[in-house]
Amino acid sequence: MKSLRVAIFGAGPAGIYAGNILANSYENATIDLFDSLPAPYGLIRYGVAPDHPRIKGIVNSLHEMLDSGKIRFFGNVEFGRDLTLENVKRHYHAVIFATGAIKDAKLDIPGVELDGSYGAADFVSWYDGHPDVPRTWPLTAKEVAVLGNGNVALDVARVLAKQADDMLSTDIPDNVYQGLKASPVTDVHVFGRRGPADIKFTPIELRELGEVEDVEIVLDPEDFPDGWFNEEAEGVTNQHRVMARILNSWLEREPVNAKRRLHLHFWHQPKAIIGENGKVTAMQFERKGELREYPLQAVYRAIGYFGSELPNVPFDESKGVIRNEGGRVIDDEARPVAGLYATGWIKRGPVGLIGHTKSDAMETIENLVSDAEKLSDPIEPELEQVLFELQARGVQYTDWAGWLKLNEHELSLGATFSGPIERDRVKVVDRAEQIAHAAHL
Ligand code: NAP
Repeated sequence: MKSLRVAIFGAGPAGIYAGNILANSYENATIDLFDSLPAPYGLIRYGVAPDHPRIKGIVNSLHEMLDSGKIRFFGNVEFGRDLTLENVKRHYHAVIFATGAIKDAKLDIPGVELDGSYGAADFVSWYDGHPDVPRTWPLTAKEVAVLGNGNVALDVARVLAKQADDMLSTDIPDNVYQGLKASPVTDVHVFGRRGPADIKFTPIELRELGEVEDVEIVLDPEDFPDGWFNEEAEGVTNQHRVMARILNSWLEREPVNAKRRLHLHFWHQPKAIIGENGKVTAMQFERKGELREYPLQAVYRAIGYFGSELPNVPFDESKGVIRNEGGRVIDDEARPVAGLYATGWIKRGPVGLIGHTKSDAMETIENLVSDAEKLSDPIEPELEQVLFELQARGVQYTDWAGWLKLNEHELSLGATFSGPIERDRVKVVDRAEQIAHAAHL
């Protein structure tokens, strides 16, 4: 079995699963995992809502995979800037791109550029303490719209509606807690462009919405005519049945006098965001041929993520993914590009839960392993040569030992937190501060 040197870019679940599957299926593999951020775990650290500890708990198994020593982690290294494709090819037989999809999909309607119109991805990055977004978020609106009927829309709506003190048990940074605590929001309106039977939520996440303290869920009976949910319709799954039951149970709830309301509107196609003096003041929708307008001071667009192109890697601009077949990168004429692979959201688009990422990585790795004998040997096959190149460019890369130190530091910030409740962890946000703890020595 020939020895194989593989670089993976993206240390989120997709990249770590791919590395782990490769390590377990190909004995002679040396695997180096790079991320543009100083810390590992990608969307688990910077995409999953802080009040979802069950999903955040996946970090424990990802930690074990990296701690096994079979995969070497290097953070704060950006593909295309710190290491180009040409550099990487000199050191590795193969490269796997697992860079995910972190931009917001575009919404092409008038007013989308107004102050107060935000991409959900940016807001998620803010509340998850991503180092590259501003530390303050303008939470000044009383009435807010969240566009989209997927789980990101639910996350955003829930975080906006929740009392900040109920988030204190999570790992949110202090600036996020302070920002949420000062929010004057009273009404969060979630708008789906299709009907309640077409939601892309998942049952656990939907049910959880109804359990948020001091928040009343408001549905419009107009959206739920008799027979609104057809059990027998094509494509109806058990998940849909459970969610239909949840929505029906909310319809029957007695009104309560909660501090905040969360409205679910259906059949609302976004038409225009309306503003005055450059600021959002309202939004117009079309509902079954009729125009409706809602006074609002902020709009969060949670209509899906979109992948970003990587320098010199074939990209499908209409889908926001790296061109590939089964994870093998292909060029414009559908010919495989030797030694280049993709996995995760940058391979298949931003859909599916974290579990799907495993089967996806399995397919990519199977193809890589079956290509192994054909892959050209790199001319500089030593890690030292890669690290030397990074140092020569002044890149302050982090490594696994460094991450363990930063991790300890965040846990100690949690343990010494002086406040009304105990906290497990307080995240370090600032990039330079993360690097100060985690840089390679
Ligand atoms: P998503 O599930 O694809 O939902 C996108 C939503 O945006 C859909 O309701 C879609 O409506 C709507 N939409 C798209 N274009 C629109 C437009 N132009 N105008 C109005 N609405 C539009 O995407 P997501 O919410 O970003 O989630 C991405 C993936 O991550 C999903 O698989 C999700 O389950 C997962 N995730 C899971 C969790 C969790 O807690 N388990 C949390 C976050 C994300 P149509 O259906 O009509 O297209």
